[in-house]
Amino acid sequence: MTTQKSHKLLMIPGPIEFEPAVLAALAEPTPSHVAPDFIEVFGRVLDNLRTVFQAPDGQPFVLAGSGTLAMEAAVANLLEAGDRVLQINTGYFSDRMAAICERSGAIITQVRAPAIGDVPALEEIQMALQQDHYTLMTITHVDTSTGVLTDVQTLAQMARSAHTLSVVDGVCSVGGEALPMAEWDVDVALTASQKALGVPPGLAIVMARPRALALFQGRTQPVASYYADWSNWLPIMQAYQSRKPAYFGTPPVNLVLALDVSLAQIIAEGMDARVARHIRLSEAVKAALTALGLGQAPARPAVAAHTLSAPYFPEGVDGAALLAKINAAGVVLAGGLHPAIRARYFRIGHMGAVSGADILAAVSAIEQGLRDVGYQFDAGSGLAAAQRVIEG
Ligand SMILES: *Cc1c(COP(=O)(O)O)cnc(C)c1O
Repeated sequence: MTTQKSHKLLMIPGPIEFEPAVLAALAEPTPSHVAPDFIEVFGRVLDNLRTVFQAPDGQPFVLAGSGTLAMEAAVANLLEAGDRVLQINTGYFSDRMAAICERSGAIITQVRAPAIGDVPALEEIQMALQQDHYTLMTITHVDTSTGVLTDVQTLAQMARSAHTLSVVDGVCSVGGEALPMAEWDVDVALTASQKALGVPPGLAIVMARPRALALFQGRTQPVASYYADWSNWLPIMQAYQSRKPAYFGTPPVNLVLALDVSLAQIIAEGMDARVARHIRLSEAVKAALTALGLGQAPARPAVAAHTLSAPYFPEGVDGAALLAKINAAGVVLAGGLHPAIRARYFRIGHMGAVSGADILAAVSAIEQGLRDVGYQFDAGSGLAAAQRVIEG
């Protein structure tokens, strides 16, 4: 068993470091999925998800699965063969969403960012919306491959004006970035447990607001996926919401117990305070990277996510060697993911229960690693820059 001392600080863009109370829920004796106490917990989880997604009129779906299942469940229930989808493409996970939409027989139009690290031009999106009618606009809130943040508020508004429903992949944003669903009039947002919601991998979570449910209810063809079909899950979610037993597929009981603990922590912190903490800690990491002379994948601060950072390796530094040295210094960071720049950059996750002390530990390990691979820099400059931001 890993001891506290041998445990390395996990700072990748999911899974993340989890709170001890969340992990303890996984070791609880597993109750029946229809035991009154568990029904109360699952019902409360569904209620609290509305608070965290800031969608009082939303219908949550909690399924056993990863974020990719949440993506598939969201669009498979809304699309029918021949429907058109406008996709705002900002990287690797946008490409995945396109592949998922294609499986439903939809016709995809993509608007791509002019370069890696950037977002598509709004004029181009507006032009596409004028040329055709789209059933859905899909948006990746934070593309975890590049650390690019999209302007969901503006995009959702553009979709609304064109009578198109907005579907937001919030796997790397919900619980970390601002995403007030009802206020921004986002129709569907989805996430997975292991990112900013702070629960080990295994839960796919979708929040559907009334227009999305109405579109689903008006379908003429059956949903191609049996497991993800909301016809199967809607009665189950509604039963738990009204504290009644129901069964379609066995819920991942202990993960739901863990989510209950994490959601209570998130709500106790408050959504605004939580987002503000993510912004401050992200700025601390980015200030440190700049002080150390490392460039970043996002084209400019306005399109940079607050849940992760994506720095380039310095010129002449062997990236794999650097990451190994950082790991030896006690911090686990992630390599590149976007195929076009994979070997040239790395990724630092800073979401969920992350603290100022974690940020300083990560920056310290990065400095140690840079020293070990012979990179010339002003020792301590990264730490000082991060500390200045953390202390405000
Ligand atoms: C992690 C991630 C996914 C995929 O989630 P899995 O749980 O790995 O299936 C999808 N979209 C985004 C933006 C992500 O960050």
